Amino acid sequence: MANTYLQRSVTPAFPPSDSPIIIAGPCSVESEDQILATAQALSKIPEVKMLRGGIWKPRTRPAAFEGRGEEGLVWLREAKQTTGLPIITEVATPEHVELALKYDINALWVGARTVVNPFSVQQLADAMRGVDIPVFIKNPVSPDLQLWIGAFERFQKAGVTRLVAIHRGFSYYKESPYRNFPMWEIPIELTQKLNVPIVTDVSHICGNRELLQATAQKALDLATDGLMIECHINPSEALTDAKQQITPDELKSLLAGLTFRSKSSNHVERDLANLRSEIDDIDNELLQLLARRMEVSAQIGEYKKRNNVTVVQMDRWKKILAEHVATGADLGLSPQLIDEVFEAIHQASIKRQSSIMED
Ligand code: PEP
Ligand code: MN
Repeated sequence: MANTYLQRSVTPAFPPSDSPIIIAGPCSVESEDQILATAQALSKIPEVKMLRGGIWKPRTRPAAFEGRGEEGLVWLREAKQTTGLPIITEVATPEHVELALKYDINALWVGARTVVNPFSVQQLADAMRGVDIPVFIKNPVSPDLQLWIGAFERFQKAGVTRLVAIHRGFSYYKESPYRNFPMWEIPIELTQKLNVPIVTDVSHICGNRELLQATAQKALDLATDGLMIECHINPSEALTDAKQQITPDELKSLLAGLTFRSKSSNHVERDLANLRSEIDDIDNELLQLLARRMEVSAQIGEYKKRNNVTVVQMDRWKKILAEHVATGADLGLSPQLIDEVFEAIHQASIKRQSSIMED
């Protein structure tokens, strides 16, 4: 089972378990005190099995904090030695790989901005030849499943056997409450195609603290093998991603509020959650489309008002409805459904345009 593989491959010391592993730690390693205090607090939470900390930070603008580099690795290793937690950090170049190995990093992750570039991924894969530590591959920033799969293939070809996926959401052109839209169907398809364990990085999906709990639960319902959650001893002072980091105490309550389902016993519930998630996405799309339709309808209303045209043009509507019924029949939808849905939409449209006329 994928999760057992994750437990075994990432930290051989884990007792075999069916429940998802939790990877927690700050977005960035900022100072010796910050990482040690965070790690100490996290090590007291039994579910936390691994400590994350960014050493080299890919920032959008060059003036921002770009990570402590090698000095940070010294502190991260110290955190590992004092807490016993295995450590994981992000690498983007062969030099990063070399330094991370020098400081006894247990596992590496490749960031979303690096996975979009096959040249960089290939360089990292080449640097990992003959090195036997797990590599976690984040999804690329864009919703491109093939690009994500390609990164796995490059590492596999270089002989890296322990690979794990990290789902951190995708850039999305529409308004959304998330920093990176989850598009759950993409990670689900990845795990069906590659049979790799998957960790959900809820912090980078949400971009804020408020959505973390519900998103973590959703990830668990969809059978994630692990959660990555950014934790900082003092989030409001964090040098990166301050809005989405939580304290170790907050992590403790978040975990206490989650329902962990056993993977093996609850596949019916998980299959259902999977399908429901697809329905939720579709309903969301329907809502966005309806809103757009109403907006265009209002623009038409304004136009009619300016040009003195009547709101209802029955002939045109009858023709459109007949066309929709025919298209619906081709798609296996009953005439009654099409009639009722479009009649309701049309009525709402007329109401909107009439109120524009009266203004
Ligand atoms: C991170 O994990 O801190 C990070 C930079 O993530 P991503 O590559 O997902 O943006
Ligand atoms: Mn971050």
